[in-house]
Amino acid sequence: MGASQPGGPSLPQERRLVTAIPGPKSTELMNRRNAAVPRGVSTTLPVFVTQAGGGVVVDVDGNSLIDFGSGIAVTSVGNSAEGVVRRASEQLQRFTHTCFMVTPYESYVAVAEQLNELTPGDHDKRTALFNSGAEAVENAIKIARAHTKRPAVVVFDHGYHGRTNLTMALTAKNMPYKESFGPFAPEVYRVPVAYPYRWLTGAKNCAEEAAAQAIDAITKQIGAHNVAAVVIEPILGEGGFIEPAKGFLPRIVEFCRENGIVFVADEIQTGFCRTGQWFACEDEGIVPDLITTAKGIAGGLPLAAVTGRAEIMDSAHAGGLGGTYGGNPVACAAALGAIETMRALDLNGAARRIGEIMLGRLGAMSEKFAEIGDVRGRGAMIAIELVEPGSKEPNPELAGALAKACHAQGLVVLTAGTYGNVLRFLPPLVIPEDLLVEGLDLLEQAFAATV
Ligand SMILES: *Cc1c(COP(=O)(O)O)cnc(C)c1O
Repeated sequence: MGASQPGGPSLPQERRLVTAIPGPKSTELMNRRNAAVPRGVSTTLPVFVTQAGGGVVVDVDGNSLIDFGSGIAVTSVGNSAEGVVRRASEQLQRFTHTCFMVTPYESYVAVAEQLNELTPGDHDKRTALFNSGAEAVENAIKIARAHTKRPAVVVFDHGYHGRTNLTMALTAKNMPYKESFGPFAPEVYRVPVAYPYRWLTGAKNCAEEAAAQAIDAITKQIGAHNVAAVVIEPILGEGGFIEPAKGFLPRIVEFCRENGIVFVADEIQTGFCRTGQWFACEDEGIVPDLITTAKGIAGGLPLAAVTGRAEIMDSAHAGGLGGTYGGNPVACAAALGAIETMRALDLNGAARRIGEIMLGRLGAMSEKFAEIGDVRGRGAMIAIELVEPGSKEPNPELAGALAKACHAQGLVVLTAGTYGNVLRFLPPLVIPEDLLVEGLDLLEQAFAATV
């Protein structure tokens, strides 16, 4: 037990419960944590981790849990993936930091080249690197404002873009992200999104009506000529894995093009093979002007990026973009290892296979349990929305109870959704199929025991 044992892909791929969850050692660490860390930083599952890899997370008490969370869609290539560890370790031996803005290094440029190649569209692109998703979104807006010389930013119902001041303003949900933390940045406007399950006139009309309402709000309430950027997640993550009805995104992109508005796809959660494509925008052939990435980009090391049209990216003056750690060399080495792993193991194919298995199984469960109102998502980004049977009344209590029951059985699952009534599944793309199926078995048992 402990740090001397390797994690990564060599870790035994099994669920193993040797104590209650949490066990005594985790409970002791939780007590220390509570005395040292503020309660604002919360914990989903109070087990302290010593190792992780493939599809499992191992805790200090020796329990091995099945991972359906990937640290919130980060460890898509698995924890301590071989290529990530090899390249990052080698970089750690050579140098840890110089600041790319002071004396640059090749790996930053190589990551930029990879992003320019992999993101949708074959136009001339540039990439700038940052530390976190929120920082990438903030910089996308700085760039869009510099390019358009306009102030306004348009975001959508159920959107999530981070926890910094500007990105709190962009985020829809008050609790827990915004409550008591204002005032927020000005010139941020929220418009409807095409949420098929909850569209009042039905899913069939959703794309067209939602786009019309969004465009009407932009033209009548803001003035399209005042809008620098429209920012949207191609599948809304924290909002509950909402896939905008087909046709909605292309219509919004078209409106942006007609009005000189920079279209920003926030692919921080959806990007890097998560949905079975390099980027979720590809699903409807969308080519964003700017795209923000983070989470899955570097196998667990902190890195984020803004990639986009060269003429837009170059509108910010020299010295206007950057940050001390942005594109740290160890994180860049890890990103190159992660991208190499995604290609070598065809993780897009793996994500699609995970999606087929999950959607099949959850679809069958939704026939059995009337509390499952909707099953949705793409690839390894799948969710169920829980309701009161016979209605669409959100059922956040059930989401919480099911998550708890899964945790107790050694399955890491996360909740989401504006109404807190969504269970979301984000397994590492390298999870062995038998563990994926076992996790779904555990979920079904949790349902049977709870409802
Ligand atoms: C997680 C997330 C962010 C914020 O990323 P951080 O690295 O936590 O700052 C922004 N946008 C989306 C879509 C996200 O999922």
